[in-house]
Amino acid sequence: MDWHSESGMPVPAARPVSMIDPLSTWLHRDAGQHGPVMLMYHAVASDAGSPAWPWTVTMQQFRNQLDFLAAEGYAIPTMGELVSCPAKTWTGRTAVITFDDGYVDNLAACEELQKRGMRASWFIVTGSIGQPPKWPADGRPGGRLLNATELRDMQANGMEIGSHTATHVRLTEVDETRLLHELADSKAMLEDVLGNTVGSFAYPYGAWDERCAEAVRQSGYTAACTTRTGWALRDNTPYLLRRLTVFNTDTLGSFARKLCLGRHDVRWRDLAGHAIRRLNKA
Ligand SMILES: [Zn+2]
Repeated sequence: MDWHSESGMPVPAARPVSMIDPLSTWLHRDAGQHGPVMLMYHAVASDAGSPAWPWTVTMQQFRNQLDFLAAEGYAIPTMGELVSCPAKTWTGRTAVITFDDGYVDNLAACEELQKRGMRASWFIVTGSIGQPPKWPADGRPGGRLLNATELRDMQANGMEIGSHTATHVRLTEVDETRLLHELADSKAMLEDVLGNTVGSFAYPYGAWDERCAEAVRQSGYTAACTTRTGWALRDNTPYLLRRLTVFNTDTLGSFARKLCLGRHDVRWRDLAGHAIRRLNKA
């Protein structure tokens, strides 16, 4: 099965390679050798101006990143597909695209994915479906979150819809009863909305511990993702999948370096420091 395009070959990029510096292009040649990566997005802004919230990328950045993934031959499974196949399935370049929180501006991102025959996994806060977020604001976009009809449409277009709890709480700080509510009730509600089983979960704020991971498993989820950086399958458990955050400060070059190095600290001075430490140890 062709994971990165349901309609045949991926749409070729307009001119992604020319927008990347030669050193990043050179580093990226080895991408895919350490297994799949997962990318974490939140909001996607229209093209006007530079978003203040670091987790809001512009639509142009997002398009360029998708075009880069397509041009570089990445398979783009959903998170559910990633964990339902043995790890050895993913021998080539593989990237799972994820969106946390379910901002309504994600509909435009969804369209861009569909244009390219790509899919992504969304993590929804069930207590705020179709409403403004009820959890504390931190500079995130205003307005409402995706509603039930939109979520059903997205699923019909191949997108995966998973849970991000009922109230976007830090699971490490709640008691057993609340933990069960956040995990089981949000799963049941999404399943009511979507009419099928929901298997994927994302920990709000990336907050997890052994108790939370076990509760996620016992609640019937098949996979959960954190915000720890690194190769997605590094921890050898589907309940602690690692992700790389895409910030609006990322250039296409730093995006490419994240993909091939599996980490966030990919500024040139970080890489120079890393290389010097390696040389000193040698
Ligand atoms: Zn969140």
